Amino acid sequence: MSTLVPGEGAALTTDGSVAAWTDRYTGAVMDTFGPPQRVLVRGEGAYVWDADGTRYLDLLAGIAVNALGHAHPTLTAAVSAQLGTLGHVSNFFGTPTQIALAETLLRIAEAPEGSRVFFTNSGTEALEAAFKMTRRVPTSDGAGTRTRVLALEGAFHGRSMGALALTAKEAYRAPFEPLPGGVEHLPFGDLAALEAAFTPQAVAERGEVAALVVEPVQGEAGVRPLPPGYLAAARRLTRAHGALLVLDEVQTGVGRCGTWFAYQQPEVGSGIVPDVVTVAKGLGGGFPVGAVVAYGDAARLIGRGQHGSTFGGNPVAAAAALATLGVIERDGLLANVREVGTLLRQEIELCGSPLVKEVRGRGLLLAVVLNRPVAPQVAAAALDAGFVVNAVAPDAIRLAPPLILTAEQAADAARFFASLQPAQFPEDPA
Ligand SMILES: *Cc1c(COP(=O)(O)O)cnc(C)c1O
Repeated sequence: MSTLVPGEGAALTTDGSVAAWTDRYTGAVMDTFGPPQRVLVRGEGAYVWDADGTRYLDLLAGIAVNALGHAHPTLTAAVSAQLGTLGHVSNFFGTPTQIALAETLLRIAEAPEGSRVFFTNSGTEALEAAFKMTRRVPTSDGAGTRTRVLALEGAFHGRSMGALALTAKEAYRAPFEPLPGGVEHLPFGDLAALEAAFTPQAVAERGEVAALVVEPVQGEAGVRPLPPGYLAAARRLTRAHGALLVLDEVQTGVGRCGTWFAYQQPEVGSGIVPDVVTVAKGLGGGFPVGAVVAYGDAARLIGRGQHGSTFGGNPVAAAAALATLGVIERDGLLANVREVGTLLRQEIELCGSPLVKEVRGRGLLLAVVLNRPVAPQVAAAALDAGFVVNAVAPDAIRLAPPLILTAEQAADAARFFASLQPAQFPEDPA
């Protein structure tokens, strides 16, 4: 008998080799990602196993998602208990988990009185909501609303039409134009360019700025931290001109950089208070959930009936996020990120491989920069050696391991980088 219920019958067993599953994948899943590097069947802590039984140290955590690693017992229990109690109710109703999560997010964001949370299911949806908020910023004369939004070159804010308009990469944008208008991409980290966007002449030509949307560390662009002082200057300028400062912490938030949000580090945010922060990736520890934290007055830009989501704030997703934040706090994982992140970085910097140029990033969001553009080949070699990493740029390997990574596991990762020999990776393999 064949059944669609996992564990009952043939249809959903995990039997079969990686090769056989890869064939089935390409025959059934739309080709937007290319063939999978492996088909994975199981995870525990910082490790995953493929369908052939091979184990990998997961140094990517589902792209900065699996904050607690895989199959964490507290997360598993919280999700199971919530699903067995009340799985979904729609936003006609509230649930204790959703309310508690909103309160917890406001607490860890150190958000002032009047701040509020909007729940989404992904990062791109959080940016969509934030984008809509920017369209509600009034002009100085109070007669209308602003439509001019600043973002940075190299920015990645998601793939839905609004989020894509904020994303800089031409290859992602071009096939889908026209995108929502009014977005200008400024040179990365360039304060003079930012100031120029607010001059009376720029305002006369293109209108008042509604918002600046930035990632404290650009993730998809190759783990590029903004230069020190940039966010403080951005805060001064946006505040002086009545524009919003929107921080996209979808990748950097939830402890990834060693504090709840990256901007909370003095070296990153200089003590600023943003207007809007978007979160997703690590928030549910692997369960899809996102959120927009709107600080102070920004919480009232969007009112009743102006935005919504059927699944947003779903109690199971909220339970997953509460459990994830709870374990990070209970187990001191922010400190672990800072300690193990520093170790990982130092050990790779000192690993001695002539292929490794430098390591950049914050906490456990790092890029190993190579001396030549062979990151895809290095990532493939890593997989063959039992490490999941990501070629985020032609010359950069991204590491975003679970926040539970141990010093021993960091040392294992560094040993892989130490083993890299330039001769293995010819610059022009042709
Ligand atoms: C991943 C990412 C997004 C998009 O999130 P999805 O959950 O993939 O939709 C947006 N912004 C940043 C900074 C990201 O890293």
